[in-house]
Amino acid sequence: SGWPQSEGLAFDDLKEILLSTPDEEQARTWSQYYTSGPHLAGKNLSQALWTRDVWQAAGVKSDIVAYDVYINYPAGHRLALLQKKKDGHKIKFECSLEEDVIDDDPTTSLQTRIPTFHGYSASGNVTASYVYVNFGTYQDYEDLRARNISLEGKIALAKYGRNFRGLKVKRAQELGMVGVVMYSDPQEDGEMTELNGYKPYPEGPARNPSAVQRGSTQFLSMLPGDPTTPGYPSKPGVPRTDGNLSLPCIPSLPISYRDALPLLKALNGHGPKADSFNKYWQGGGLSHKGIDYNIGPTPSDLVLNLVNEQDYEITPLWNVIGIINGTIADEVIVLGNHRDAWIAGGAGDPNSGSAALNEVIRSFGVALSRGWKPLRTIVFASWDGEEYGLVGSTEWVEEYVPWLSASTIAYLNVDVGARGSHFQAAASPLLNDLIYNVTSLVPSPNTTVPGQTVYDTWFSKDIRTMGSGSDFTAFQDFAGIASLDIGFGAGPKDAVYHYHSNYDSFRWMDTQGDKTWEYHTTITKIWALLAAKLSEMPVLPVSAETYAKGLEKYIKSVKVGASQSSVTDDFSFVALEKAANNLTSHAADFDVYTKSLTAELGEGVPWWKFWQKLKLWYAVRKANMKYKLLERQFLYADGLDGRDWFKHVVFAPGRWTGYAGATFPGLVEGFEDNDLKKVKKWEGIVLKCLENATKLLSN
Ligand code: GLU
Ligand code: CA
Ligand code: ZN
Ligand code: ZN
Repeated sequence: SGWPQSEGLAFDDLKEILLSTPDEEQARTWSQYYTSGPHLAGKNLSQALWTRDVWQAAGVKSDIVAYDVYINYPAGHRLALLQKKKDGHKIKFECSLEEDVIDDDPTTSLQTRIPTFHGYSASGNVTASYVYVNFGTYQDYEDLRARNISLEGKIALAKYGRNFRGLKVKRAQELGMVGVVMYSDPQEDGEMTELNGYKPYPEGPARNPSAVQRGSTQFLSMLPGDPTTPGYPSKPGVPRTDGNLSLPCIPSLPISYRDALPLLKALNGHGPKADSFNKYWQGGGLSHKGIDYNIGPTPSDLVLNLVNEQDYEITPLWNVIGIINGTIADEVIVLGNHRDAWIAGGAGDPNSGSAALNEVIRSFGVALSRGWKPLRTIVFASWDGEEYGLVGSTEWVEEYVPWLSASTIAYLNVDVGARGSHFQAAASPLLNDLIYNVTSLVPSPNTTVPGQTVYDTWFSKDIRTMGSGSDFTAFQDFAGIASLDIGFGAGPKDAVYHYHSNYDSFRWMDTQGDKTWEYHTTITKIWALLAAKLSEMPVLPVSAETYAKGLEKYIKSVKVGASQSSVTDDFSFVALEKAANNLTSHAADFDVYTKSLTAELGEGVPWWKFWQKLKLWYAVRKANMKYKLLERQFLYADGLDGRDWFKHVVFAPGRWTGYAGATFPGLVEGFEDNDLKKVKKWEGIVLKCLENATKLLSN
C-alpha cells in the first residue's frame, strides 16, 4: 500500500530503509567528530571538507559554496565592579568571564575553549553605574521608564530569556544606555535547579554555576545574514553598507550567574525591589543566595567597568551543498542544518542536527545503492555562520533566490536535533498535516505503552508559527518558501541544557542529554521521512486548507491584540475575515480536487506509468505547481516597514521578540503604533495577497 512512485524502489521499501538505517552508534560517532574541537563560523574549513567527503561517499554529489562575510572574533574583555574613591578606585569584584574546566570533559579545557563573547557586538570600554532590567524586553524597559528609573548613561544588567539577546541591546541603546551585561538566571531552569537539591553538571542535571551563554547580538528582527550586504550575496568584492541597521553600537558581555551574584548583591538596597513592580518582575532564581533583586541604579560611586574588544574582518564562510537529482527538475526539497558552534563542543547546538543530517544522507545513500532515484530533487545543506545571524543560509538564499523561488517546495530545518525528550515543531501551516502524519510513522524513544509513536508521546501536539533564530528565516521570510523546524527539546524532567556554553559538550550528551542516542536517530527518521514524502508522493502531501485556516486563526489573534490599540474602533476586520474565509473555502475545494487526482492515479502505480496517463499527469503537475507557489503569494516586494529585507506579509520575527514570530506583522505593528494609516496600508496589501492566493487555487 502507499505510493510506490520512486524509480527502482517502491515507496514502502524506501520507507523501510529510512526507518531502519539510522544507527545510534553511528550518530554518536558523527557527533564525536563534530564536537571534538572549535568550529566557529569561518574557522571550520576542515569540517566543511570532511562533511563534503562523507556525503560524497554516501553517493550524494556535494560541493563547498563560500561567501566573504563581515564578522567579529573576540580579542579581549573585562567586567569589574568598582568602588570609586577620591584617589582612583577599588576593585570590589573582578568577573572571571571563564567557564570552569571539567577534567573528564575534554572540550572544556583551556586549549580548546573559545572566549565568552557576543557575536556582532560592539567594541567599547565603558564605566557606569548599572540597572537591573529584568529580561530586557521592550516592556521591561517601559516599566522602568514608567517608574522614572534613570537609564541614560547606565549599564543594563539583564537576565537571559524571553526575547532574543540582540534586542535587549537594541532597546538599551535606543534609550541611551551605554552597555549591557547578560546572565543566565537559574529561574529559567525549571525544576532542575540546585535549590531543588539537584547537583550541577558534571555531577548532576542542574546548571553549572559558571556556565555562560555566548550568542549573537545582531538585531535579527531587522536583518539576518551578513549585515553589510542586505538582500544580495556576499561574493568577493561586492559593495557593502556600514551594517548599522542590524549591528549594535554599545558593547555587551555575557556572564555566568556565579559572576552575576556579586553584581546583583551590590544592588541590594538600591532603588525599588523588582517584585514591587508587578508579578512578572518577581521570581529571580537567586533569592536564596541573598539577592533581593533591587532595580538600582547603583550610586554613582559604585560602577561597572565593561570592556569588550572585538576584531572585525571580512572572512570566508563555507556551506556544504549536496544534491540528489530527481526526475522532476523544477520541484525541489531542501534540508538544512548549521555546522558552526560557539564552542568546541556543540553536541546539542548544532551538531545533534549535523549527526542526524549525516544519518539522513547515509540512509538516502543506501536507497540510492539499491537503485532508487527520487521523483523530485533533494538538496542538503550544512550551513556555516548560523550563530552570528543565519549568515551562511541567508547569503545562499540571496544568491539562489531566482532558482529557489521557481522550484522549491519546502525547506526542512533541524538546528538542535536532540537535547531532551520533548518533540517540538514550528512550521508554515501548509506542512502541519505532513508533520502529524510523519511523526505517527516513527517509533518514540519515550514510550509508556509499547508501540507508541512520536506523535503519541508528543506532549503538546502544538506546531508553533515561524519566528526566527535559525536557518529557515531566509527561506520562509525572504523567499516565501514553506518551511519547518523540528527537534527534541528539553522537558521539565530533562537535564538543564547549557545553551551556547562549554557544557553543551559531547560528554554532556553522552551522559545526560541523549544517553542512548535514540533521540538522534529518531529525529533522523522524522526528517528523512518528511523529505521522502515530499519527494515521492505524486500529489504533494501538503494542505492548502490547513494553510488558509492558519491564516484565519492569525487574523483572529491580530484582532484580539488590536483591542489594545487606540485606532481599533476606526477599523473593521470584516474585509480581511471575508477574504481569508473565501480562501479557505477555495483551498478546501482544491485539496478535495487533488485527492481525486491521487485516487484517479491509483495506488501502487509506478510513476513511469503516468506517461500512459499523460493528461492526468499534467493535471498533477499543475496542481503541484499551485501548492508550490501558494506561499509565494504572500510576499510583498517592498517588504515590511523599516525592515524591508522581510518580504512575507504573514510571517516575520516579532520586532521586539526575535525568536517568537509575529503573524501579519504589518497589521500588528500598525495597531501597536496606533497608526491607522499603516493599518489600512497593510489591510490593502494583505487583501491583495489573499485574493491572489484564492485566484491561484481557483479554476
Ligand atoms: N540561533 C542563533 C541564536 O539564537 C541565531 C542567531 C541569529 O539569528 O542572529 O543565537
Ligand atoms: Ca547578503
Ligand atoms: Zn543552532
Ligand atoms: Zn545556537
